[in-house]
Amino acid sequence: MIKDDCIFCKIAKGEIPSATIYESSEFRCILDVAPANKGHALIITKEHYDNIFQLDAETAAKIFSFATVAAKAIKEETGCEGMNVLQNNGAVAGQTVNHFHLHLVPRNTDDGVNMSWKTMETEASEQQALAKSIKSRI
Ligand code: AMP
Ligand code: ZN
Repeated sequence: MIKDDCIFCKIAKGEIPSATIYESSEFRCILDVAPANKGHALIITKEHYDNIFQLDAETAAKIFSFATVAAKAIKEETGCEGMNVLQNNGAVAGQTVNHFHLHLVPRNTDDGVNMSWKTMETEASEQQALAKSIKSRI
């Protein structure tokens, strides 16, 4: 499915120009227009999926497989020390473009990029029960 009003559908199809690193029949990898760091890239599906909850495992496998290739190329080119691979789903999780995309964010010492969270208290027994409940849904 392609959504007419979706900017990433248009970018993925090449209707809106982008700094494209690589393109396949399933995805396009571009540089983010407002990067967190030099080399910040996005892998965007060609089909429209709102988010991970709609994406199929086969397409996801191809995207993450390419992420391993892109990460190495970006690291070689930018000389970054590390990289965050992240992917936001839903406004509550920070998603601003409702078309599935994976972020590759190069990281350097003291670069000021912030991806931290406070941790919760947990009980081992509760964690075991929760893991079992989630497993029953797989
Ligand atoms: P998210 O907040 O995970 O939905 O990320 C959306 C990302 O898309 C942001 O990092 C934006 O800077 C980026 N973005 C939005 N519009 C464009 C565009 N036209 N070309 C490239 N990147 C874009
Ligand atoms: Zn779309």
